[in-house]
Amino acid sequence: MTEKIKRVERIAKLAAGNKKLRLMEVCGTHTVAIFRSGIRQILPPNIELVSGPGCPVCVTNDDYIDKAIEYSRRGFIVATFGDMLKVPGTRTSLAAVAAEGADVRIVYSPLDCIKLARENPTRKIIFLAVGFETTAPTQAATVMAAKAQGIKNLFMLSAQKLVPPALKFLLNDAAVKVDGFILPGHVAVVIGANAFNFLAEEFHVAGAVSGFEAEEILTAIESLLEQIDGGRAEVTNNYRSVVKAEGNVAAKKILAQVYEVADADWRGIGKIPASGLKMREEFSAFDIEQVEPVIIERVEKKSACRCGEVLRGVINPTECPLFGKACQPLHAIGPCMVSVEGVCAAWFKYGGSNFRW
Ligand code: SF4
Repeated sequence: MTEKIKRVERIAKLAAGNKKLRLMEVCGTHTVAIFRSGIRQILPPNIELVSGPGCPVCVTNDDYIDKAIEYSRRGFIVATFGDMLKVPGTRTSLAAVAAEGADVRIVYSPLDCIKLARENPTRKIIFLAVGFETTAPTQAATVMAAKAQGIKNLFMLSAQKLVPPALKFLLNDAAVKVDGFILPGHVAVVIGANAFNFLAEEFHVAGAVSGFEAEEILTAIESLLEQIDGGRAEVTNNYRSVVKAEGNVAAKKILAQVYEVADADWRGIGKIPASGLKMREEFSAFDIEQVEPVIIERVEKKSACRCGEVLRGVINPTECPLFGKACQPLHAIGPCMVSVEGVCAAWFKYGGSNFRW
């Protein structure tokens, strides 16, 4: 009997006799891995997996996209990861303005922007710095490199988010029901497994740091069920090959040098205190919002998109009336359908049902 089958049997035993349990993953890579490997289908019926706000593109506010579009219209080169192109702002998307002639470039790392800035000395380059703790250290390293090299035409439009404050926010939301968290291994690599201890200490909720292979995710689920079944709450590190209790000290140091913690707006959720990063005063010459701020007129859009509830795990995407009809990956209405790691896109691509064997 393979380890995987043994683990599934153990999960079934632990789940038996328990109430319906909701386990949330807060990482787009986990969302996709769970669907791809068919984990939903092999879990006992009383174990429900829900997705939280773990896709960086999905949680990026629409007025951030509007600002990026405005900068592109002012003649800046906007450099971004490919997923951001189709994300709708309040009126249009970067893909649409690029089709009209705006200079929008896809890069694979913020460090590519150093080269871009050198090759285009008469142009101003903006990198769209979105993402979680995973990507923020590379963005900070890019700013430090630009400063060290005397580059003056590279800027960041920052909207990085922090995962632990978002989890706290969810646990304080009465509409959100979660019995345990499958915690993002790549975020924990940077901030450390201990950064999630508050789950158990403040909320008595189980947590398990997980890798991204099917067996690793099953191990995390087993760990959560062991805790819940035993009436315990702790944070287990099930990704010890790369995650340390204290995280990556060097990466945290670079982050702290360039950024300080600030409130942040999460799309569909709203402002979460101390859940984002803003550039420190010493690096303000690289913060485009300080160098050349733009004022975006807020447009209140009426939309039936329910991304806010999807991202809080309150509903599944199939409960959105637009899912698979007006909203599909090729003509997405909300950000959760745009990114390959978006919850709605994953449900659409991999079946979108609670089908079980
Ligand atoms: S299916 Fe589309 S419209 Fe509905 S919540 Fe998801 S992204 Fe929004």
